[in-house]
Amino acid sequence: MPFLFFHYSEYLKGSTISSTVKAGNPIDNIMKTVLPFFEQVNFNFDKAAKYTNYSPGILNEIKICNSVYHMTFPLKRDNGTIETIHAWRAEHSHHKLPTKGGIRYSTLVNEDEIMALAALMTYKCAIVDVPFGGAKGGIQINVEKYSVGELERITRRYAYELVSKNFIGPGIDVPAPDYGTGEREMAWILDTYTAMTSDKLEARACVTGKPVEQGGIHGRKEATGLGVYYGLREACSFEEDMKPLGLSSGLEGKSIVVQGFGNVGYHSAKFLQEGGAVIIAIAEFDGAIYNTQGLEVGKVSDYRNENGSILNFPDAKTMKNPSEALELECDILVPAALENQITSENVHRIKARIIAEAANGPVTPEAHDILKNRGTLIIPDTYLNAGGVIVSYFEWLNNLSHVRFGRVGRRFEENSRKDFMMAIERITGKRLPENEMKRLVYGPEERTLVNTSLEDTMAVAYNEIRETRTQYGNGIDLRTASFIKVINKIAVSYMELGIFP
Ligand code: NAD
Repeated sequence: MPFLFFHYSEYLKGSTISSTVKAGNPIDNIMKTVLPFFEQVNFNFDKAAKYTNYSPGILNEIKICNSVYHMTFPLKRDNGTIETIHAWRAEHSHHKLPTKGGIRYSTLVNEDEIMALAALMTYKCAIVDVPFGGAKGGIQINVEKYSVGELERITRRYAYELVSKNFIGPGIDVPAPDYGTGEREMAWILDTYTAMTSDKLEARACVTGKPVEQGGIHGRKEATGLGVYYGLREACSFEEDMKPLGLSSGLEGKSIVVQGFGNVGYHSAKFLQEGGAVIIAIAEFDGAIYNTQGLEVGKVSDYRNENGSILNFPDAKTMKNPSEALELECDILVPAALENQITSENVHRIKARIIAEAANGPVTPEAHDILKNRGTLIIPDTYLNAGGVIVSYFEWLNNLSHVRFGRVGRRFEENSRKDFMMAIERITGKRLPENEMKRLVYGPEERTLVNTSLEDTMAVAYNEIRETRTQYGNGIDLRTASFIKVINKIAVSYMELGIFP
């Protein structure tokens, strides 16, 4: 395969809407000139498409966003005033149904962002073989400014709009949590959907990331962060990939900076620390904390719960400017907040050897090329943060089958293993210690099944991407390799549907 010259600056020139957008840092409000997010995703797609033989028509069909619904609705605030709320839902690809993707609450939400995130969902699902098309939703609000009652009214009205337009349903489009949302919002959506539809039997499968008591699955809340851990562990296990970075293989002792201490950032940090890495800094929107000896992730979380902020955490240095944390000397940088965090503006100050994209789109294409030329290993978002959708898939399957994983067969498995072990004890005349016996006969419960399937999926997908990188040789990075893989997979599904000749 010849080396293909495909440069970001050339793409910028050809861009129809080169614009200045407010970058994802609400605090310093730096204005950065970057390509609109959906064009960034398409840039990465086009870069990989050059390595495939599909016609421009087929490629365009894969990357175009199939449907976008922009809705506005009134909110009566607690003080009686009326406010107009802007919200979106985009279904990027119907090559597999239902479509699937989170719902984001942020002031930065706009149509371009939602289309970009929906496209990333399509590619993510294809990479980890989850049979969904991609979708995403968002409401342009600052959650801090609304009471719980107001947030409930906003969420329920959003769900009402989606149900009314047939834009949500177990076989249509299935939302999940994302930035600014969680189990609570998913429960409101489920309740609204159930109240408005006659499909009571399958209703629970209309949304994932629900509380366990309402049809959620054990392990979904931590799934994205756990997936980040499994993905990084796999990436760091290859000595030949770590050596050029000046690193030894394995996660043990690696210094890590995490940006964003929400669902994904907290759980990534927690599992990475449990896996032997040292979390030296955590950045939040209002500042960062730093200690080269390592921060206790659980204690930082408790401290934030008590004080409302991670700042001034004891035994750590507080940094007022959170962006400075990204520039610290470390082995691995885990951006887990928002897109456009590493741009041409700050890329020259980034010192991490590995960038693990826990957030969606944290590195712009221009910054990516600069880092790549410098030899930094970038583990792309389309792969690394797929843990959430993998476990959401299991939740959706549970909801449709109306039975928890492990419920049928667990006790039978445990009893058979016990019989087997007791037979061995009888034959050998030796007794196993009780705790050893317990471990060997253990019949897995739902969380264990979910976590081991997640572990397996993340490992298999990483190896596939890595093999594609090897197959295409020099000049291919993991992001391009992952896009080559998804283009091939999605084109094949369209062919199976008889859409492409
Ligand atoms: P979240 O709302 O739970 O947490 C995000 C955190 O980032 C918040 O604590 C926020 O204060 C912080 N933050 C915002 N701006 C920041 C800044 N400039 N510097 C430092 N911290 C900042 O959101 P989340 O669900 O953890 O999502 C984070 C990212 O991961 C998003 O890009 C999202 O799309 C992606 N993602 C989430 C999931 C999921 O399951 N939740 C799945 C895949 C990808």
